[in-house]
Amino acid sequence: MYTVLLAGGGHTHLEVIKSLSAERDPFIRWVLLSPDRYHYYSGMFSGYAEGLYSLDEIRVDLKQLCLDKKIDFMEVAVESIKPDQKKVVVSSGQILFYDRLSIDVGSHTAPDFIEGLQERQVHIKPAHLFPERMEVCQLARELVIIGGGAAACEMAFSFHAWKEKRGRKYDVITVISSGPFINEQADPVIESLFRQKGIQFYKNDRAIKVDDRYVYTENDRDIPYHEVMFLGGAQAPKWLEKSGLSTDEKGFVLVDATLQTVDHSDVFAAGDCAALATHPHLPKSGVYAVRQGKVLAHNLVASLKREKLNDYIPQKRGLILLATGNKEALALYGKVVRFGKLAWLWKDWIDVRYMRKLKKLSD
Ligand SMILES: Cc1cc2nc3c(=O)[nH]c(=O)nc-3n(C[C@H](O)[C@H](O)[C@H](O)COP(=O)(O)OP(=O)(O)OC[C@H]3O[C@@H](n4cnc5c(N)ncnc54)[C@H](O)[C@@H]3O)c2cc1C
Repeated sequence: MYTVLLAGGGHTHLEVIKSLSAERDPFIRWVLLSPDRYHYYSGMFSGYAEGLYSLDEIRVDLKQLCLDKKIDFMEVAVESIKPDQKKVVVSSGQILFYDRLSIDVGSHTAPDFIEGLQERQVHIKPAHLFPERMEVCQLARELVIIGGGAAACEMAFSFHAWKEKRGRKYDVITVISSGPFINEQADPVIESLFRQKGIQFYKNDRAIKVDDRYVYTENDRDIPYHEVMFLGGAQAPKWLEKSGLSTDEKGFVLVDATLQTVDHSDVFAAGDCAALATHPHLPKSGVYAVRQGKVLAHNLVASLKREKLNDYIPQKRGLILLATGNKEALALYGKVVRFGKLAWLWKDWIDVRYMRKLKKLSD
């Protein structure tokens, strides 16, 4: 009997679990390790923050899914990996041995390069405390969001919409971005929407320090806040660097095109926590994490059976659908930008359909 440990119930592992059929190899035991019984779908974070979706609509019950798929579920976090001994240590103190280990533990949003931020910010990930964290931000009189990519802009729009619907017109939202927001084509639209909605923004300025009352920037701004949130890019879980696996300069586990780690062929990694050696600049996005699922599912089994492994080849360009509040969105594909209700309907259709398919497996 072989044991495959799936560390983390992220987007990629959900695809792996989904692909396990009733006729699968009975000599492979699959075990999912997750610190929480739910997976929260980040594509719908903004809709939840705005009050458009309920908690049940944005999460998948991992325990139930595992039950349905007849695989083992352990509600534990992986704390360390000993790849040379083929074992992991989990938060319950147990030591688990594996024949294949796959890591899909995502990323976090707590960088250590902004002084004072880690201990003061509202952490959006890991996601199981997500609902209460969203409420704290919704109710904040002065909310500062550090970061200028799709996630930061989208969350600013969503919190604004939530506040607007409740007449909280004196609340202030500020976005601080160290560079441009998305690109030359999208930025004028985003900036014009920020202005229309009264969302403050500072572009090309960098948050460098946070104390109990202000966020300080490189350009000498002191921005008052009640709650601050970093959405300026995925950060690698610190324990991964100590795992004995090779990582890139940011601490993400280095994998080759087969999603095998570069130095341990029995350990795989995917999603945000992995850095593809063949595509070092691949964005950390759920879209890529999901697409890795099919290759990972095949390769985990193929490597046990000594069969040929497949390569993961990322799509060249991804569609970004960025919610801007009040059921409107921006659709960005390369240099093409479209704004309006249709883009939001498209996003909603994709997200709701994706979740419906996942939930069907666990209902
Ligand atoms: C606000 C926001 C909005 C976003 N919106 C989008 C979007 O619209 N579209 C898009 O494509 N991307 C979006 N992203 C990016 C997206 O969230 C990530 O790229 C995606 O979640 C990565 O998937 P993953 O499988 O790597 O990890 P995740 O989906 O984050 O899952 C990782 C899982 O691992 C678990 N875990 C963590 N630590 C451990 C541990 N030690 N042991 C075991 N399990 C552990 C976590 O609980 C979690 O369930 C957004 C990100 C943010 C922050």
